[in-house]
Amino acid sequence: MNWLSSVWNYKCPRCRKGDIFTKPFNFSKPLDMPDTCTVCGQKTMPEPGFYYGSMFLSYIATGFLYIGIVAVLILGFHMSVEKAFLILIVFVALTYFKTARLARSIWIHIMVKYDKNAAELGSGRVRTF
Ligand SMILES: [Zn+2]
Repeated sequence: MNWLSSVWNYKCPRCRKGDIFTKPFNFSKPLDMPDTCTVCGQKTMPEPGFYYGSMFLSYIATGFLYIGIVAVLILGFHMSVEKAFLILIVFVALTYFKTARLARSIWIHIMVKYDKNAAELGSGRVRTF
């Protein structure tokens, strides 16, 4: 599994086999994570406040994406501002959970290096970085 598909499928950044979000998906706890990866023991919260950085990442990325969407709708499709923002609100509502989880997944994948032997070493040892 490569880096991008590991990020997209919310896999553990170290072993790329375990899941970093609890399954099945729970609407009341969309960002619930197990303490450690069940395959290699990688901590999903390596330090307190670890995911603050992902909020900034998400804010910047979605900010540019949403400006781009509105610009294309208004300038490309000649829509009114009201109609463009209505479409944007629907888009944001539909992609909210994916965006929030993806930001965390990208963040932990940036911070934790892939280790091809991690799965064989097992989950006996808890790892931070
Ligand atoms: Zn793992």
